[in-house]
Amino acid sequence: MTTTGNFRIEAGEAAALIDARMPTYPTERVPLERAQGRVLREQLVAERDQPPFDRVTMDGIAIDSAALANERRQFKLRGIQGAGAEAIPLGDAEHCVEIMTGAMLPPDADTVVPVERISCNAEIVTLEEGYAPDPGQFIHRTGSDHAAGQPLLQPGCVIGATEMAVLTITGKTDIEVARWPDIAVISTGDELVDAGKPLEPFQIRSSNGHAIVAALEKRGCRSNRRAHLLDDPTQLRESIGRMHEDHDVLILSGGVSMGKYDYVPQIMDELGVELVFHKILQRPGLPMWFGVSAAGKPIFALPGNPVSTLVCTIRYVLPAIRRAMGAREPTHALQLAEPVHFAPDLTCFLPVQLTHAATGAVLAQPKPTNTSGDFISLAGTDGFVELPRGRDDFSAGYAADFFAW
Ligand code: AMP
Ligand code: MG
Repeated sequence: MTTTGNFRIEAGEAAALIDARMPTYPTERVPLERAQGRVLREQLVAERDQPPFDRVTMDGIAIDSAALANERRQFKLRGIQGAGAEAIPLGDAEHCVEIMTGAMLPPDADTVVPVERISCNAEIVTLEEGYAPDPGQFIHRTGSDHAAGQPLLQPGCVIGATEMAVLTITGKTDIEVARWPDIAVISTGDELVDAGKPLEPFQIRSSNGHAIVAALEKRGCRSNRRAHLLDDPTQLRESIGRMHEDHDVLILSGGVSMGKYDYVPQIMDELGVELVFHKILQRPGLPMWFGVSAAGKPIFALPGNPVSTLVCTIRYVLPAIRRAMGAREPTHALQLAEPVHFAPDLTCFLPVQLTHAATGAVLAQPKPTNTSGDFISLAGTDGFVELPRGRDDFSAGYAADFFAW
């Protein structure tokens, strides 16, 4: 019925096929406190000039530099002005105002002399002998960073610490961001037991669900649910059908290979999910399966080996969801720290640790795992590089796309 998809395709082709089938996720408003990690959906402009006034950048005194031209070395103190107070005018060039970093420059002053360069006796301030202030020094001029109304943040940017700081000068207390889809993370397998529960010698701990959820949460996605299903066609059909109703995206792990109990592709077919592709020419993660339900919801079924699951999540699932939210997902290239030989005619995803060359350049140090089941070796790595299919040897210095965990 719906099994007309692509088989054994290239990594780049798989990513493009997924992108083409992702829905566009709606916009919602969130308060600034909840904006971290979200994808911005509106252009935000500066509420005021930045800085909004001539801002003093040193603790000291504000003077009129015309006095310096007249060889003046002493000033009468007009007053003391802190940040957050209205400016105190000097009145004339004989006077100064003691002033603090962040204060508004008095309207008739144009120069700040740091406190380290003056001495003060009674109400008279004397400049250090031989010290010649530059007229105009230690002032951050009005609008010199940004003018009011100038765009500061563009749709598609991901809110992190620096964007959060910029948000505060847009005058907004809540902003339009893409809504994260509700995601169900479903591990499958009769052998899997959750941490903390007793297990038999033939059973193993279930790692994939936790690992996928951690990757989602790291990117700001909190709207996800974790579930586990047995390799039982009836349970798979019922539970996947039900979870598909309640969620926008399903991410499954396990049960997509050639084994007798790998029921997932068959169940998807029975549920009327359109197969977009099955199997990518890659290692790890060759059996990856992707389909779209009749309701247009994407369903990712990842091979269960923990290294495969994580690599496929980071390489395909998360970028696709974030692009569907409108995020720019730039790729980063890193140079290999040492040569790599990879004989299979497959794209290779190779775990790496970031190191530094003697020049200071960041390099990718290969940290191959034993097998795609050896996820313990991944701890301490920073991500993986993508080495394209079609060649066996990659020299040290080869620039490969890098994906952070
Ligand atoms: P499968 O893709 O179901 O054939 O599983 C491949 C291998 O990955 C098997 O050794 C499974 O036991 C293992 N595996 C599958 N799912 C998980 C999981 N959630 N956590 C840890 N290992 C898993
Ligand atoms: Mg299995």
